Amino acid sequence: MRRLPSHHEAIPSLRSKHAAVQAGFGGEQELDKIFESYSFTMKHGIFHDLSLASSTYFQVDTLFITPWYAVLFEVKNIAGELTVTENPPQLIRVLDSGQVNGFKSPIAQLESNCELFHDWLYSRNLTLQVYGSVVLAYARQRIEVFDTNIPILFPSAVPTFIRKLPTTSPMLDDVTFADLLSQLGSSHRDFIPSPICETYSIPRSDIRTGVICPGCGFIGMERHSRSWHCKACGLAEREAHKQAIRDWFLLFGGKMSNKDCREFLQIERQQTANRILRGMGLHSEGANRNRTYSMQFLSERKKRT
Ligand SMILES: [Zn+2]
Repeated sequence: MRRLPSHHEAIPSLRSKHAAVQAGFGGEQELDKIFESYSFTMKHGIFHDLSLASSTYFQVDTLFITPWYAVLFEVKNIAGELTVTENPPQLIRVLDSGQVNGFKSPIAQLESNCELFHDWLYSRNLTLQVYGSVVLAYARQRIEVFDTNIPILFPSAVPTFIRKLPTTSPMLDDVTFADLLSQLGSSHRDFIPSPICETYSIPRSDIRTGVICPGCGFIGMERHSRSWHCKACGLAEREAHKQAIRDWFLLFGGKMSNKDCREFLQIERQQTANRILRGMGLHSEGANRNRTYSMQFLSERKKRT
């Protein structure tokens, strides 16, 4: 959004996506805290931010798995008055200010994830009961939901919910269960975001290039003596290019050449671009003039069992 003119036609959809991402963010940590502070006596594994491939890729916020069953948790952190409708499947949020936003239905999302996870197990010749629950991160959330058998819980209710799940169904033996945990660990895929310009059909030429001042937001910091200078607020910052390089990969994806780097950072000298690119810890391929760089986006949270 910072790199588009304020009247750009993609701004409204980017804004609502931004609100949706922020709504999920922060909530997951609330559930993590519960899992950290509670000790379950049964054999189990807990995975966060799993990205798995079945007939399609899918992401699971939190997976709790035992030899008897698996529970998928979809965590939401959305303030305001919430209504989940079944048809069409959506989540509508009304803020005290009267502002209304629409989000994907967490229930429809969870149902689809449960099916995909069931298929993922089935393709490995495994059968487990798969349950799902939507977790509302904060107790101040008010929600109205259509009649569904998917439980909507606050984090503190999660341990009790788990303890009440039946452990009578056929269970996996120790070897199979250990193997399943290691498969889940290794099939975890690093998050590869699809390029923003592609997702929102934004022409490359609409994107404003230049290094953004971390102090005042001015675009087009100038580089002198290995530092970036803002002519709007006077700030000098040695590493201001790092965000710009990240922006480039998030916006366009793929591989960055020395020329791409120079154009985006608005610098002239190849050596400067080389030094900057080498200092970014990027993955590089090719030699000399043909060298390109790519960025790996690693999930910040690691698997815990
Ligand atoms: Zn500035």
